[in-house]
Amino acid sequence: MTHATITPLGTVSPYPKGEMNCPGYLVEYKGYRLLIDCGNGVSRLMTMPDMLNNLYVVVSHYHKDHFGDVGALQYASFVYHNLGILTQPVKIFLPDNDFANNKLAIVSNTESFTEYHYISDGFSFMIDDLEVSFANNLSHTIEAFMVKVQCRDFKIAYTADMGNTNLSHVAEFCKDSDLLICESSLLLSHNGNRARHLTAYDAGLLAKQANVKRLMLTHFWPEEDKNCYVDEAKNVFENTFAAEEMVGIMI
Ligand SMILES: [Zn+2]
Ligand SMILES: [Zn+2]
Repeated sequence: MTHATITPLGTVSPYPKGEMNCPGYLVEYKGYRLLIDCGNGVSRLMTMPDMLNNLYVVVSHYHKDHFGDVGALQYASFVYHNLGILTQPVKIFLPDNDFANNKLAIVSNTESFTEYHYISDGFSFMIDDLEVSFANNLSHTIEAFMVKVQCRDFKIAYTADMGNTNLSHVAEFCKDSDLLICESSLLLSHNGNRARHLTAYDAGLLAKQANVKRLMLTHFWPEEDKNCYVDEAKNVFENTFAAEEMVGIMI
């Protein structure tokens, strides 16, 4: 049996607050590190320079709360490479279709020790025996990629930002996951636009439909009590908990 550790490094949006950062989830497996999204503040929870080694970074979509700290990692990689400490480039995976010139801005930063790979629908890559695969969730205001991380022993799925317009499509991708990391920007009481972002209730419905084992809620409003989201989702799906910075779980 092989295991991975999943540690949230950022759980709120659209801005970091106090000890909370914008989205980022660190998967550690066999000495490798996969950082799924790299929102504002995430890098301050990364131990440098150690965590730059064997590091793969995924940006799910080109909204700034999901890549705000990529620049910090680029500079860190540049400095530690120049010092002779970092010998392998940080691998950064970005959506192939640019939005608002954000891809261009990221890849044109020459003061970095990085290599770039581009995500399109159905793209996948391997880290040892861990497969990382992507699909457009077809549910957000811009193209946003769900991420699935799986090997023989476990499956983890991440929704990225999404609304409730294509739940069946997302449920199919996330089906039977041991852990679903799901955005829940809203509570029903917010009366927000659920076509753009999910309520915690919607996240619960998705977890149930996808038949996952556990639901980790994230992408919270920084001013809201996380327990309110968990309570709302539990009306539909019992095995729900809130992502907390630096509170890792083993799978
Ligand atoms: Zn977001
Ligand atoms: Zn977004």
